[in-house]
Amino acid sequence: MKNTPIDSRLAGQRNERLILSLLREHGELSQTQLCRMIALGSSTASSIVSRLRDKGLVIETQGQSDKRGPKPILLKINPSSRYVAGIEINPSYIHIGLFDFTAGLLIKSKLQLTASHTVDYVLDTIERQFPAIVKKLNGDQEKILGIGITLSGSVSPQGIVQLSSTLGWKQVPLKEMLELRLKNKVLIYGTRVRLMAEIAQEPELQSRNILYINVANGVGANIYMDGKLMTGSTGRCGEIGHIIYDPDGPVCGCGHNGCLESLISGPILADKIRKDIHDGAKSILSDWLVKQPSEMPEDVVDLWGKAIEQQDEYALQVRDYVAERLNHAAAAAINTFDPDTIILAGYVCRQCTGFFAESIRQAMNGLVYDSPWRDIRIMAARCGEESLIKGVAMSILQDIHPI
Ligand SMILES: [Zn+2]
Repeated sequence: MKNTPIDSRLAGQRNERLILSLLREHGELSQTQLCRMIALGSSTASSIVSRLRDKGLVIETQGQSDKRGPKPILLKINPSSRYVAGIEINPSYIHIGLFDFTAGLLIKSKLQLTASHTVDYVLDTIERQFPAIVKKLNGDQEKILGIGITLSGSVSPQGIVQLSSTLGWKQVPLKEMLELRLKNKVLIYGTRVRLMAEIAQEPELQSRNILYINVANGVGANIYMDGKLMTGSTGRCGEIGHIIYDPDGPVCGCGHNGCLESLISGPILADKIRKDIHDGAKSILSDWLVKQPSEMPEDVVDLWGKAIEQQDEYALQVRDYVAERLNHAAAAAINTFDPDTIILAGYVCRQCTGFFAESIRQAMNGLVYDSPWRDIRIMAARCGEESLIKGVAMSILQDIHPI
């Protein structure tokens, strides 16, 4: 069958994307190295590279020669040729990052959402703050390729937030609403993009099968198996936060009772700690919460972590309460996905990652099928609080190709 012009154009764009993503991963590569990596003939590679150079997306640089021959010409991404923005929306804050074309973070801003997190309030805040951030590009605003938004919840391919239990949003046409306000292309992502940031940080992870468990304002997992980030048929893969642990438990944001998220998410834990202390629980936290009052669940959970370090008995009880529930969901996910790596992330997990890792390991003996035959590395997430804006920026760079 003969290739149509559209086929060739798409193949050309695919190769351009591939070369850009290899340069993003490796920094600098010679044309010969690129040809070898993507199995292209040298004349095809030359024409793709010259197209990228004409668009200003890649630049040439001189490498080091280890012999007496000429210095090799290396290619690298031109960082200031395009920009992307990554925005994380969660019930406590809006985190905005501006990234260059290598996915390097240029500017970030974190806006607290103490008053409200209704759709109108969040969108008004983004619309007000975003221009002030992109102004720092000094006239290069038109080089913004797109804006990636990420939030915890299920998102349709059309960019409609179908349900975000942490934000309490249902059927919000977020892409359309933000494109009108920001006058730029907007793509909406769930939170699985953060795993991409983690893999970029440690490329060796690309060859692993990963279960990434996040316990923060929401509870969820992202799954990377056989070289691919799994999405599932409706984009809801990895919703371990809605595994029901206690059918008689409190109502979860999803409408069911006793989901893991309704028991151990950051805001739930912060409320539990405040209530227990108010009801007379003896703990170093009762003094600390008076001295450092805060509306933000992260702050209360951080204090709990400090109390754990001091072996405060109440704080240790809460730690064991979280671990027991987390173990059940982790075991269910291990049985289902068979990972060789578990990454523990989020501001709840980070208070005592080592303990939670050991606790999951112990619990596997009783809860996981054939556990002696599994060799699972359990590690802490490394990207910290920038993982979502970085991950969403990398997704935008992959999904929107400069014409
Ligand atoms: Zn739920």
